[in-house]
Amino acid sequence: MSSPTRRYDAIVVGARCGGAATAMLLSRQGMRVLLVDRGAHGTETLSTHALMRGGVLQLARWGVLPRIVAAGTPAVRRTSFHYGAEEIAIALRPGDGVDALYAPRRSVLDAVLADAAADAGAELRYGETLVDLLRDDEARVSGAIMLDALGNRREVAAGLVVGADGIGSAVARLVGAPLLRQARHATATVFGYWSGIAAEGYHWHYEPGASAGAIPTNAGLHCVFVSVPPERYLADLRGMPMDGFHKVLREVAPGLAAQAAQGRRVGPLSVFAGRRGFFRRAAGPGWALVGDAGYFKDPLTAHGITDALRDAELLAQAALRDMPAAFAEYEARRDDLSLPLFEATDAIAAFDWDLPRLQALHKQLNEAMKREVAWMLAHAAPALEAA
Ligand SMILES: Cc1cc2nc3c(=O)[nH]c(=O)nc-3n(C[C@H](O)[C@H](O)[C@H](O)COP(=O)(O)OP(=O)(O)OC[C@H]3O[C@@H](n4cnc5c(N)ncnc54)[C@H](O)[C@@H]3O)c2cc1C
Repeated sequence: MSSPTRRYDAIVVGARCGGAATAMLLSRQGMRVLLVDRGAHGTETLSTHALMRGGVLQLARWGVLPRIVAAGTPAVRRTSFHYGAEEIAIALRPGDGVDALYAPRRSVLDAVLADAAADAGAELRYGETLVDLLRDDEARVSGAIMLDALGNRREVAAGLVVGADGIGSAVARLVGAPLLRQARHATATVFGYWSGIAAEGYHWHYEPGASAGAIPTNAGLHCVFVSVPPERYLADLRGMPMDGFHKVLREVAPGLAAQAAQGRRVGPLSVFAGRRGFFRRAAGPGWALVGDAGYFKDPLTAHGITDALRDAELLAQAALRDMPAAFAEYEARRDDLSLPLFEATDAIAAFDWDLPRLQALHKQLNEAMKREVAWMLAHAAPALEAA
């Protein structure tokens, strides 16, 4: 059954960090926005969730950070890099509205952003799956076809369809978004949640061939993860993630492993088998991609959410100008800011380094992050900040 067509300025497909932030910003610019997701509000997804400075900066500027803090998300003021037995602890430099980092559970972060989108006037619909696109006589995307949980089909017209629908983006597939670049390496990640871990701040542990870490998050829990290259995943983790997880953790971070063994695990382990990073064309006639739908990199450097929040704003600025040149600039800026992060991440994900080389790669990554934050600060769009 098809219901009558309704028109929006934009339909955003995917209501997590990339899509909800984009919908919020478009709505704040006065656009009529429909935000849809096939999933449910306030749920988890397959992702750890350490935010970097740029991500927290965006949340602060948009006025949503207080809601994240009010949800009991602990402040992170220190990051410790463990290169074998050597620990290098770096205190966060407060400034530019960022006094701490945060690692909210996705059930918190994505829900806060979706609620902020609704507050700004976006219409939210969960349990709706985009199955096809509408096109006008000139083949420009002019809307979307959605299916609800009961199988009802709905055609919705819009000036812009934004695919914020993740790695396997249906929007990217339906428009045939070209693949512009692909990473060479992909790591596997296994993670879970523990109570009773005493680690303060972010802890990233490295040994040749494997890494691990602890991320403090809501409800007094720590997200504890291990990351390994594909061969190690196949040998030790696939099919037996619990045994393999503890084996890798003992090897890379013995102190953390001892705490995990004595602490209490809350919920099951989650397994991400790995996927090579990519850049897809970011926009075309009547469509655009944001977040993982358009640009994905290995999770080893924990930067995907931060970049999705950055690109939500870049895209909202382009949509306001609504000209092909503005969308081309969106892609160019996304790629310019992302490429150094992408390259450093791919080199780290190769797992062919020794510890001094890894430290050099981390310096490279840090420079790319600083450049990203500097750009965000210099190009803030006051119109998009909290009302
Ligand atoms: C193991 C792992 C660990 C990670 N750790 C970190 C980290 O510590 N820090 C960090 O910054 N990043 C991390 N990332 C990356 C981060 O998860 C992503 O960059 C981020 O989720 C991208 O958000 P998004 O909104 O673009 O897409 P997603 O979070 O993938 O959301 C896409 C949404 O689209 C919806 N959707 C999909 N198809 C349709 C459809 N056809 N119709 C309607 N809805 C649809 C889905 O239901 C989903 O809700 C990690 C990733 C992985 C895999």
